[in-house]
Amino acid sequence: MSLATLSPSRASDFKVCPQLFKFRAIDRLPEPTTVYQARGTTAHLALERLYDLPARERTPEALSELFREAWTELRGSEEFAHLFDSIEEERRWGVESLTLLLNYFALEDPKKVAPLDRELDMMEDLDGITIRGILDRIDELPDGSLVITDYKSGKAPPERYALPAFFALKIYALLIKKQLGRTPIEVRLLYLNGPTMYRLPIDDRQLAAMDRQLRALWEAINRAIERSHFPPRRNTLCDWCSFKALCPAWLEEGSQDLVASGA
Ligand code: SF4
Repeated sequence: MSLATLSPSRASDFKVCPQLFKFRAIDRLPEPTTVYQARGTTAHLALERLYDLPARERTPEALSELFREAWTELRGSEEFAHLFDSIEEERRWGVESLTLLLNYFALEDPKKVAPLDRELDMMEDLDGITIRGILDRIDELPDGSLVITDYKSGKAPPERYALPAFFALKIYALLIKKQLGRTPIEVRLLYLNGPTMYRLPIDDRQLAAMDRQLRALWEAINRAIERSHFPPRRNTLCDWCSFKALCPAWLEEGSQDLVASGA
């Protein structure tokens, strides 16, 4: 078995922790749905649809209504049907979600944004490696340059920790260059919880480096598959990892604690 396609998210997983990549991409273990995921999915859908409206109608009221409509569609789905214990809990979640979503207007004025595409399903063969992923939004500025934007409903990290979050966006910039033959000038991360916008200018030199990095990663993943060797790498995100209870790195520690306590 070898890798058929790689998404920017799974590439990030492997970089952070090969064992996490294995749980998600090889074993395909299900992960519990959380209220934060429900918020992220619903907010993404509302923001995507906001740009179906004429520019003058892209108001906070319209975005709130689009969020309510999107949640009405999603709340009965298998993924989200049993998320809340009571209507009151769901209502509180809705109020908090809307407050967070409306932070969007502090980050940019949607009446002045001209998206070229949204929720763009991309699959590109980069000379022997196939990358697939969904890009939140790509805009064309009045001077014809391209900007890639990714929405985040989670909390903005401090600036010094934001750089790894650009990894996936640089991959999308590479895919856009391959597809359109144009290098985006910038990638942007819009954190609704902050609210904070991080921007990174992009050039061909960075994309060439990303291409090399992606190839090295592709080879490393194939080697890991061949040897069935996906070492866990403990990191600051372990406490939020859905698989911590199954993870060899933490299971060993758990058993050592039991021995130490004489259990
Ligand atoms: S708990 Fe940490 S080390 Fe284990 S799989 Fe998750 S991210 Fe990797």
